[in-house]
Amino acid sequence: MTDLSSSPTSEASVTDATKFIAIDGPAGSGKSSVSKAVARTLGYGYLDTGSAYRALAWHVLDRGADTDDAEAVRAAASDFPVRLGLDPDDRTVRVGEAEVTEAIRDPRVSGAVSGVARVPEVRAQVNELFRRLVSEAPYPAVVVEGRDITTVVAPDAPVRILLTAAPEVRAARRAGELAGENAAAVAAALHKRDASDSAVVDFLNAAEGVEVVDSTELDFPQTIDAVLTVIERLRGAHRG
Ligand code: C5P
Repeated sequence: MTDLSSSPTSEASVTDATKFIAIDGPAGSGKSSVSKAVARTLGYGYLDTGSAYRALAWHVLDRGADTDDAEAVRAAASDFPVRLGLDPDDRTVRVGEAEVTEAIRDPRVSGAVSGVARVPEVRAQVNELFRRLVSEAPYPAVVVEGRDITTVVAPDAPVRILLTAAPEVRAARRAGELAGENAAAVAAALHKRDASDSAVVDFLNAAEGVEVVDSTELDFPQTIDAVLTVIERLRGAHRG
């Protein structure tokens, strides 16, 4: 567990990119469950970067503020004792004494998270946390999933993957995860969040050198296999 409040706010100049398995993709692409399964299979750590943004959105709301207010977001980020682990079987997230693991998945937080993600100083601050967590990780490598891992957080990582799926497939998967929620409302919220997020970072098109895995026609085990195959090939190439 690491405390973000003690991290510096500037972008890191030194990153041990070799320990990153970088996986980006939109909501509903399967990236969290696939990344976790891949980490388990390989005995690697797992870092869900979206949970840091979600925890900050929760923190802003908990302070009675609005995530559309960039000043309020910056104020909350300057006092943000978030703790994230790297164990793929323990996704506990804490902010100070509060355990927010479930609360950060709430539609209220999902609807507010893009507001914190568009503040540049916040991105620099959490990116620094991610790099520090990976470099200090007690694992040979860490599967790090998010939106800008392949492009901003670890552009030099030996393995960089963009996991995609057709929008209607992503919406259907997300609606299946949120049992009880109205499917049309889930799809609308997901597309709204994608539109807002993609104005900040492009996670719908692969940057140069990033491998695309399209899971539209793949089931869960097939998607894991496809990602493992890319990792094996790229890590092999990297080792020479
Ligand atoms: O992956 P997840 O859907 O949990 O991410 C929640 C939100 O965090 C995204 O909608 C996006 O606003 C933000 N995010 C980001 N950059 C990342 C990971 C997540 O901006 N690397």
